[in-house]
Amino acid sequence: MKLLLGRVLLPVVRRGSRGCTGGPQKEVRVRFAPSPTGFLHLGGLRTALYNYLFAKKHGGVFILRLEDTDRSRLVPGSAERIEDMLEWAGIPPDESPRRGGLYGPYEQSRRLNFYHEAVQTLLESGAAYRCFCTQQRLELMKKEALRSRETPRYDNRCRHLTSSQVQEKLAKNLPFVVRFQLPSGAPSFQDLVYGRTHHNVASVEGDPVILKGDGFPTYHLANVVDDYKMDVSHVLRGEEWLISTTKHLLLYQALGWPPPAYAHLPLLLNKDGSKLSKRQGDIYIQHFVQRGFLPDTLLDIITNCGSGFSGNQVGRTLPELLRQFNLRSTSTHSALLDLDKLPEFCKVHLSRWIEGADTRAQLVEQLQTLLQEKYKDVTFDKTYIERILMLRKGHLHLLTDLLSPDFSYLWIRPSVQQEELQRLSSEAAEIGSLVVRILQNSHKDTSLELLSKELKSQLQLLKATKYSTSMKLLRLVLSGLETGPSVAEMLLSLGPEESIIRLQTASSG
Ligand code: GLU
Repeated sequence: MKLLLGRVLLPVVRRGSRGCTGGPQKEVRVRFAPSPTGFLHLGGLRTALYNYLFAKKHGGVFILRLEDTDRSRLVPGSAERIEDMLEWAGIPPDESPRRGGLYGPYEQSRRLNFYHEAVQTLLESGAAYRCFCTQQRLELMKKEALRSRETPRYDNRCRHLTSSQVQEKLAKNLPFVVRFQLPSGAPSFQDLVYGRTHHNVASVEGDPVILKGDGFPTYHLANVVDDYKMDVSHVLRGEEWLISTTKHLLLYQALGWPPPAYAHLPLLLNKDGSKLSKRQGDIYIQHFVQRGFLPDTLLDIITNCGSGFSGNQVGRTLPELLRQFNLRSTSTHSALLDLDKLPEFCKVHLSRWIEGADTRAQLVEQLQTLLQEKYKDVTFDKTYIERILMLRKGHLHLLTDLLSPDFSYLWIRPSVQQEELQRLSSEAAEIGSLVVRILQNSHKDTSLELLSKELKSQLQLLKATKYSTSMKLLRLVLSGLETGPSVAEMLLSLGPEESIIRLQTASSG
């Protein structure tokens, strides 16, 4: 069977049951395979998203597999957080450590038997061998290579051990690793993004380790075994792995397994072309979650800097991304991420969330929780919160903006000193009463424009106070602030009842 994908006609291999599998055979199965050696960042999210979209586009399955074989680099908690973040972003895996599935376990550390089985096959066929070289020897070789300005590589010495030499060393309990014997000459392959690719790996690298001294496989073996055992049909992963793919294909060949199709995704870089910096921590998804970003904002900005979609435009949400996604239009150019545009993306998506009834209800809920955390004893009415959101729509970037000191007047009454008001105008009391009257006579659904007009026409009639001073005074009474939103907006946000209570501070003078 042939399936038209990418630039070539891809033969899709239908595989039979393989002992560990046995589930229904699905055609498209893709996986996101991060190492829990850190938290999910924007680059990882982008790879996961492409996999998710590819799976959904083809009615397939999206797998989360944790590549946790490098035990020394594990970061506690990061495995759980990665899955949390995919769920938060709205791209949950179909099969994963948390969700399970017919092809589990989904953590490599729990799949050692599969790797050992494969290593055994390779050892028996002579495609792999035990290497007893000491760390000291390897270090020495490396140093010498560097001194003569060569790329360090293993000299494949243990390839040539006779079986009796191997037995002798095993009998002495000498530690060993297992290496894969790279055949000379390597097959070229068709990458769905980068096109025909050829890398004569044996001419530049020594035989790679596939099983380490601690009994754990290296990435190269583990990803081959798992992609095969998990029936992965297409591997969509970062471009940094393109160079390793030949090695993987050689392993498939040695094991007699059909390989998946490969599509390498161009890297996500800073807008100046430098590597995405993790140092400031500002590219970690958790950091965005904590600051109250919407998932739509992140999905939109990470897909707006490159290929795979019909052009760049602000405001795309997941259904739109799914509709537009086409692996065939992914180019090989690096994707440049312009985080300076983040506020613009935030504004567009937050406005959209405020507009939608369901999403608005979620925002109200979230804001209520945030407010409760900040202003412990005060309770906030949902209708009030909703009104604030509607009034601020188009101005807010993040929900958490409403927790800033500039907006604290919305949630707590300011304490304003009479003397301050008197200093501004001897007519403070009149101004307060006048605005109270305006509010009492206004329609309850009066608009911002009407209220502003009314305030202006009435306050301009005052003899001793300039209009701008009246505004300053009112802003102070209502919010305790000297600058900020317009007085009409404050009045509308607070509502007539609360506004009147505050205005009475001025009129009681
Ligand atoms: N564990 C590898 C990584 O974190 C996965 C590479 C792959 O997808 O094959 O980049």
